[in-house]
Amino acid sequence: MSRRRTPRGSERSPLTGAQATADVLICGASFAGLAVARELAGSGADVLLVDRYELGERQTSACAVPTPWLAAMGLERCARQEIACMAFHTPHGSTRFRLPWSWTAFDYRTLCQELWAQCGEARYACATVGGRSGRVVHTDRGDLQAELVVDALGWRRVLAGADGYQPPEAPLSRGLEVHPDGGGVDLDVWIDRSLVRRGYGWSVPAGSEQRVGVGSYEPRDHVREPTVDLAGRLEVEPVRFQGNWFPHRLRSGAQDGVFFVGDSAGHCFPLSGEGIRTAFYFGIACGRELRRVVEGRSTREQALAAYGRFSAGHASAFSRALRLQRLIPALPPRLLSAALAVLGRPRLVARAFGWYLEQAHPRFAHAEGTGVSGT
Ligand SMILES: Cc1cc2nc3c(=O)[nH]c(=O)nc-3n(C[C@H](O)[C@H](O)[C@H](O)COP(=O)(O)OP(=O)(O)OC[C@H]3O[C@@H](n4cnc5c(N)ncnc54)[C@H](O)[C@@H]3O)c2cc1C
Repeated sequence: MSRRRTPRGSERSPLTGAQATADVLICGASFAGLAVARELAGSGADVLLVDRYELGERQTSACAVPTPWLAAMGLERCARQEIACMAFHTPHGSTRFRLPWSWTAFDYRTLCQELWAQCGEARYACATVGGRSGRVVHTDRGDLQAELVVDALGWRRVLAGADGYQPPEAPLSRGLEVHPDGGGVDLDVWIDRSLVRRGYGWSVPAGSEQRVGVGSYEPRDHVREPTVDLAGRLEVEPVRFQGNWFPHRLRSGAQDGVFFVGDSAGHCFPLSGEGIRTAFYFGIACGRELRRVVEGRSTREQALAAYGRFSAGHASAFSRALRLQRLIPALPPRLLSAALAVLGRPRLVARAFGWYLEQAHPRFAHAEGTGVSGT
């Protein structure tokens, strides 16, 4: 596939007439937005995706996802490396877990292109979204209008309007990573206060590349120095930085006539900061509800209510993960090491990671023909 680049300056001509209207307007074309659009393929709906950048241009994550999700979405071609084991490191030792399922590190641009190829007749436009008045979305290329509007714009949740949800006060984590050449076998995780007070470090092998980073649950704590520190400990170059904020609390999935999906709805899992699988999962759920509207099987209001309930229905799992997020950094390091050693027993690993995958299970991607309302 040819590589397109983000149009700039005069290339960003106004979108007018038919270009500026659609049945479904999806703002944000990363994991969540593409998952929504993919679910609408073949529905006959006129779907417009907008993003400030060209498709797949800006990677902001380590791009590791449970392998069964890549298979469920038909995205195996973007895989760079399958990772069967995780190793947890504390100042008092290391425990290696063989998981009941594996991770796969993938190539972001290829994944976006592969998802896009599954989006049927959907249209794509580069435009920066600034806000909304009713169903009119304001962008740097003019106003866009649609009956059904989706915010998949990430943690800023731009279409909810200014609600003061900003770091460092808001419940957001921050993450930064470097992408040196390298390799490895395991997905390594460091829980070590000498690195980051409340958070963790990681190294994700991705073929010839290593994605080394640090996440802090405390948005006031900076992560650049710890990331460079971890790269130093691993003797890799701190090069090719990328980072972002990511949410660790669920927010309303439907508000004021808009569907919110992925990080914009706080769908990133609080303990692990894993938000790709959940963006797929909730994106599919949202897409199915939109499809019911397009096909005349429900109204916009019914779809908003059903999807909002579906998203909120996951609150207990997200709260549990948030409690663990608070508990784990507070444990005395020796106790944490002992707990990890116990958890490392095969039966416990299978149970814990089985529960974890169950919260947004890949079988959901196959359950075609149903709305989240179960019909
Ligand atoms: C350093 C780091 C590493 C991570 N590693 C992993 C990992 O390995 N595995 C995992 O599962 N999760 C990981 N995460 C979390 C994961 O990246 C997010 O949860 C996930 O990207 C959420 O997907 P999304 O589609 O909701 O939002 P995003 O991926 O943030 O996508 C939002 C899209 O909206 C566009 N956009 C934003 N604002 C505007 C605007 N105003 N106008 C137009 N377009 C706009 C952006 O360009 C982007 O394409 C990581 C996060 C960080 C910060």
